[in-house]
Amino acid sequence: MFIDKAKINITSGSGGNGMVAWRREKYVDKGGPAGGDGGKGGAVFLMADSNLSTLLDFKYQLKFFAENGEKGRPKDQHGKNGEDIYIKVPCGTIIKDVKSGKIIGDLTYSGQTLLLASGGRGGRGNARFATPIRRAPQFCEPGEPGISRELELELKLIADVGLLGMPNAGKSTLISVISAAKPKIADYPFTTLVPNLGIIKKPDGDGLVIADIPGLIEGASQGIGLGFEFLRHVERTRLLVHLLDMTEEDPVNNYKIINKELEKYGGRLNEIPQIIALNKIDAADLEIVEETAKIFKADNKEVFTISAATGEGTKDLVYHLIQKIEEIPLPEFNIEVEKDEDASDHDDSEYKIHKFDHFFIVKGGRVERLVSVTELRNTEAIFRLQNILKGMGVFKALEDSGIKDGDTVRIGEFEFEYYSDEIKIENN
Ligand code: GDP
Ligand code: MG
Repeated sequence: MFIDKAKINITSGSGGNGMVAWRREKYVDKGGPAGGDGGKGGAVFLMADSNLSTLLDFKYQLKFFAENGEKGRPKDQHGKNGEDIYIKVPCGTIIKDVKSGKIIGDLTYSGQTLLLASGGRGGRGNARFATPIRRAPQFCEPGEPGISRELELELKLIADVGLLGMPNAGKSTLISVISAAKPKIADYPFTTLVPNLGIIKKPDGDGLVIADIPGLIEGASQGIGLGFEFLRHVERTRLLVHLLDMTEEDPVNNYKIINKELEKYGGRLNEIPQIIALNKIDAADLEIVEETAKIFKADNKEVFTISAATGEGTKDLVYHLIQKIEEIPLPEFNIEVEKDEDASDHDDSEYKIHKFDHFFIVKGGRVERLVSVTELRNTEAIFRLQNILKGMGVFKALEDSGIKDGDTVRIGEFEFEYYSDEIKIENN
């Protein structure tokens, strides 16, 4: 199959740290706490773009970083959030997480996005930690770090139009004549087998991808020659142009040979509409051309007579392709995408302890969620929470961080004084 691959590393922005600051009030040496929260880090997204047709750009840039959130500001002001970034990839790009091996995305249409890593949350400033008892908190929270991932991009190019025909029918010539831009196939570092590709610029600016399927010879459906690889590629095209060399002895028979190959291969190949292009009319017997055209028309086929070499008739063909392609829906892809849990959350049961003299903050998805669902006026619920925290090793970790009896611990919105044999709840 026609595959293009690239590996990239991405990192979302860290959240900004909270700030320790004080309001300045007249006659008051130190006003109330007024440190703002840090901004959120920028997220990293992928975005499909129909103007791209290869992963070539990733040969030059492999690492992508989103902006960090700014730290909190005085006067209770929130730090600025980091800017999100959108990395552009061609339509038809499949995204795999290298660490887990999971396929986490399949971007097929222009503008479609995929979140790879959300930005870290900003830390809370000291203003948020003030309580009636602790009026002047000297601490704030650090911002959450960004997420780093290694991803593998794989492009299965979706050609809109496939060019069929015997060797020498004029496929390469036709592509070079009708396409506006050609990707540099010779520099293509990731690919072993590349069909000749061309992009026809549509009036609306979008590109129509046309792929030459070389080497399609008799026996291709049994895997002889290069043909077989490309038959799989053809399967994804929306429309086929079957090119016949009209200077050949029996062009209609050549047409049949190729279609027999398609039939043997099975799948949906037979069902892809085919337009007939009788080529080399500059050098062919025009009577034969006309007769051949009649045969196909009698069979309800659309027939164009062209000369790839002189360009005669190719404009009409292109115009027809552009119109026709609009009517044909994109073929379905059966790529199974798995749920991606790594884009927005680190391992949820992990937690970190931040120490500020006699104040300890325990941060972590699961511990904070546990606390938020615990009824804190209910002694039994508290005991249960205590047991779970103990089971998760939180108390042990606090002791390792040097906690002493009477020190304060905060988890989410919940604060308590630490005693090695009991928990005393502070009114909050
Ligand atoms: P492919 O094998 O199908 O890709 O065919 P090519 O595009 O390589 O063309 C094969 C040969 O046919 C080349 O020598 C071309 O110059 C020639 N050819 C292609 N189109 C035409 C045409 O319209 N008229 C004439 N006279 N020669 C053509
Ligand atoms: Mg060729």
